[in-house]
Amino acid sequence: MAVPLLDLKLQYQALKTEIDAALIRVAESQACILGPEVAALEASMATYLDVRHAIGISSGTDALLIALMAYDIGAGDEVIVPTFSFFATAGCVARTGATPVFVDVDPVSYMINPDLVRKAITPRTKAIMPVHLFGQAANMTELMAISAETGIPVIEDAAQAIGTRYRDGRPVGGIGHIGCFSFYPTKNLGAFGDGGLVTTNDDALATKILQLRNHGMEPRYYHSMIGGNFRLDAIQAAVLSVKLPHLDSWHAARRRNAELYEQAFVAEGLSQGAGATEFSERDRILLPAAMGHHIFNQYTIRTAHRNALRAFLSERGIGTEIYYPVPFHRQDCFTYLQPQDADYPVANSLAETVLSLPIFPELRPEQITEVVATIAEFERTMVS
Ligand SMILES: *Cc1c(COP(=O)(O)O)cnc(C)c1O
Repeated sequence: MAVPLLDLKLQYQALKTEIDAALIRVAESQACILGPEVAALEASMATYLDVRHAIGISSGTDALLIALMAYDIGAGDEVIVPTFSFFATAGCVARTGATPVFVDVDPVSYMINPDLVRKAITPRTKAIMPVHLFGQAANMTELMAISAETGIPVIEDAAQAIGTRYRDGRPVGGIGHIGCFSFYPTKNLGAFGDGGLVTTNDDALATKILQLRNHGMEPRYYHSMIGGNFRLDAIQAAVLSVKLPHLDSWHAARRRNAELYEQAFVAEGLSQGAGATEFSERDRILLPAAMGHHIFNQYTIRTAHRNALRAFLSERGIGTEIYYPVPFHRQDCFTYLQPQDADYPVANSLAETVLSLPIFPELRPEQITEVVATIAEFERTMVS
């Protein structure tokens, strides 16, 4: 039985009538950019995320970029980011002319280590950008304490965590000063193309972001600041508005799938349960730690024989992906920063051992059983 990493057609088929009607509504209105569709999405996202302002943006990458621009971050400034994330987190910092400062991650959560953030702060630090990786929240308690002590703002990269709740029950993205979300099709809430969102509870920042979104223009054809084209298309907003009411049930289905994976890995004798951080005979596969609310944008295991296992699964029609094989400090484009590889032992180990398995909401229990049985079959070939 083939098991794809993701099958977006199943979600479209389930909502086809409503989505098709929304697409035709936009076609007939010919109000193609921003307009009432985007305004309606922004209002429902502000409610869903419990924030004062939710601003539709052209992509998650642009959401990060506009957040940095809203703080006038540029040449001579430093922004602290985890070294283990999707490229956009660091790329956007560098694009402003600022220096991304890479920090190693925590071995349990795989997310930015607040103790190392403290050590990385200099007089030039202008922002801290935690990433809520794979659908769990970063340690916002520690990071907001650092922010309160130093006055440095926190920009949350919540691209993989739309609807993730922090320990206190608040959705991520509204805990720091600015939250950035992505509607890339593989995210838990995906558009029919690129799209993103910026959230903030700060009225002045919201006003500035709205202006930056449209070339810094205010009033029409007068530019007191340099922005860009960071506008969201109406067609994306219309699709997202159909999907948003279903998002929590999709999160729940992903969580159920994660539970089924854990049960199956334990039943196969490959794990004693989530949370182990060292490989051993009884933990041949390390399962993702459930530290709190998790929306499982990815279900990412660790295995000592990652590349061989991935090839074995691929031969049997099981889709997997490596998020992420190369941490920022090892990227060729950042050699000019002269990062010291030995400073990042956790990220280096993750990059060699992580493997993300299919977790999408429509995945069937027998597919999960099949994935784990196939991994068990591979592990037996490693023992013999
Ligand atoms: C997807 C993603 C982004 C970028 O979002 P796009 O909409 O693809 O531009 C940024 N950061 C993280 C952590 C992501 O996963």
